[in-house]
Amino acid sequence: MNQSNNLICMECGKKVTSVPTFLEYKGQEIFVFNPAICKPCLEKLCESYSIECANCGGTIPPYSHVGILKAENGQSQYIHMTTQCNTPGNAFYGYWGKGTIREFIQIEACS
Ligand SMILES: [Zn+2]
Ligand SMILES: [Zn+2]
Repeated sequence: MNQSNNLICMECGKKVTSVPTFLEYKGQEIFVFNPAICKPCLEKLCESYSIECANCGGTIPPYSHVGILKAENGQSQYIHMTTQCNTPGNAFYGYWGKGTIREFIQIEACS
């Protein structure tokens, strides 16, 4: 498939032997295709940058898709992109990265 022997962990610079990097963190399964990152670094990132789901209170690890809720005070709240947590009226989603949204996409509202 892709040249996995050329992959370098973006955090520590060591070789990453396989992608996606898989980690199970607090009951969440995380697969990271991009960026290339080694498992120990991914674990550290999860500890540092995980956020709490505004709906279920569970952990949202970095490098996963999130639903974004706009709170009235202009703040954003984040929820899992799962059928349990993602409400049908929610029009935003993004890709949670290192403590910030990496992509911010508004879904066209279909009425
Ligand atoms: Zn690393
Ligand atoms: Zn949730």
